[in-house]
Amino acid sequence: MLPDGRAAQRVDTALGELIGEGRHVLLTAESGPEERYARWLAVKRGSVRAVVGTRAAMFAPVRDLGLAALWDDGDAAHSDDHAPQPHAREVLLQRAVTEQAGFLLGGHSCTVEAAQLVESGWARPLEAGREVLRGTAPLIRTVGEFDEARDAAARTARLPSLAWSTARDALRHGPVLVQVPRRGYVPRLACERCRAPARCAHCSGPLEAVEEGGALRCGWCAREVADWHCPECGGARLRGQVFGARRTAEELGRAFPSVPVRTSGRDHVLESVPEVPSIVVSTPGAEPVAEGAGYAAALLLDGWALLGRPDLRAGEEALRRWLSAAALVRPGGEDGNGHNSGNGNGDGDESGGAAPSGGGGTVLIVAEPTLRPVQALVRWDPAGFAVRELADRAELGFPPVARMAAVSGRAEAVDGLLSQARLPDDAEILGPVPYPVLEPGRPRRPGDPPPGEEWVRALVRVPQGSGAAMASALKTAHVARLTRREGTPVQIRVDPPDIG
Ligand SMILES: [Zn+2]
Ligand SMILES: [Zn+2]
Repeated sequence: MLPDGRAAQRVDTALGELIGEGRHVLLTAESGPEERYARWLAVKRGSVRAVVGTRAAMFAPVRDLGLAALWDDGDAAHSDDHAPQPHAREVLLQRAVTEQAGFLLGGHSCTVEAAQLVESGWARPLEAGREVLRGTAPLIRTVGEFDEARDAAARTARLPSLAWSTARDALRHGPVLVQVPRRGYVPRLACERCRAPARCAHCSGPLEAVEEGGALRCGWCAREVADWHCPECGGARLRGQVFGARRTAEELGRAFPSVPVRTSGRDHVLESVPEVPSIVVSTPGAEPVAEGAGYAAALLLDGWALLGRPDLRAGEEALRRWLSAAALVRPGGEDGNGHNSGNGNGDGDESGGAAPSGGGGTVLIVAEPTLRPVQALVRWDPAGFAVRELADRAELGFPPVARMAAVSGRAEAVDGLLSQARLPDDAEILGPVPYPVLEPGRPRRPGDPPPGEEWVRALVRVPQGSGAAMASALKTAHVARLTRREGTPVQIRVDPPDIG
């Protein structure tokens, strides 16, 4: 199981080379319903014994399942938004248990759920040793956001001079990847004088610049604003606060006119780029593979944008995205000077082999160097990071150490359901609180209340071991209310991903 069609395609090709053609099938949305159904039947009949696929393939009726393997379980694509919101990791875990099969979880990073499987003794870690890591990982350097502000040599507000010199040096040896968390041109602007955020007069949505010198557009209602004036101070000049991938590509194109600049993002994902010098600006998750040895360097910009999200998983997710990009960069090479482990002189002679002459791979991350996820990237230690996250969650009583269910709906419906549910004795009810706070004009998302309704959300929390009892109590009460047609509907989500 892989998170997207691109990755599944690559594994499909590799598996064909390994076991020969015709012995496995690919199950992805891209193959079309008829072809997918034919392949599904071939699996069900037992004429094909291996399946490579994306999310829906988690239910593939493989006969006599021997191994369920999942790559990159932190990728949100593995979680289905439609009720009952199954996650591929949970489904495959369950299948491995009930069908007596092996279970393999792989990735460049490590989720807290994976760390928990190891901590509990259910699974064992399979990790590369430090010398292997030294020989394959790129050199990782950090530059803080505050250094950047004071960096007089910086040519723009956001690319520190170390980023320019890293890109310039690496371009002599191969392609350079630039990861930018945000799409668009300049998606956030503020008043130059008083720093008040630029908002739409109609709906308070954020105004964004869609091209240089062009009109501003509201990110929510899409109205255009021809002449903006700050409602706070009357100022008429704006400054960019967040810069998107397109603007970054434009700046890099001006700075390095002799190399091609390509972009890869949700609307147009590049598969791969040739080994020749070029700049690839990509949003996280859309990074193309660089042919040959890999990228000569990667610049990971605007780390704060990934870390600042109000989400329990912000750190884990930021590290996952950085490692996925860094894994595409060639090995750091022979110097070992201040290499990733940070413990001084590298002594790994084995590290030279794969690196092309003169150009060891470098990753430069622009983020506060003391932050835990940044440290984990520098040390290339995603498992250690996940174990510490897990310890924090245990201390705070957060999933996956405690089990939680979010119950949302109208206040009387949530109260009604919770008072009827025969929850286990050790269950704790937190809230309800108003939820979610809908900013006017924000586009609706799945799970939002119907227009005009005010909802609340309560969290039910139980210790590990009572999760099944909690889920079944809530389900029984929910079904009872539905069959009696009692009150308005509620939404129940076990282990909600967004309680931060
Ligand atoms: Zn102002
Ligand atoms: Zn608007």
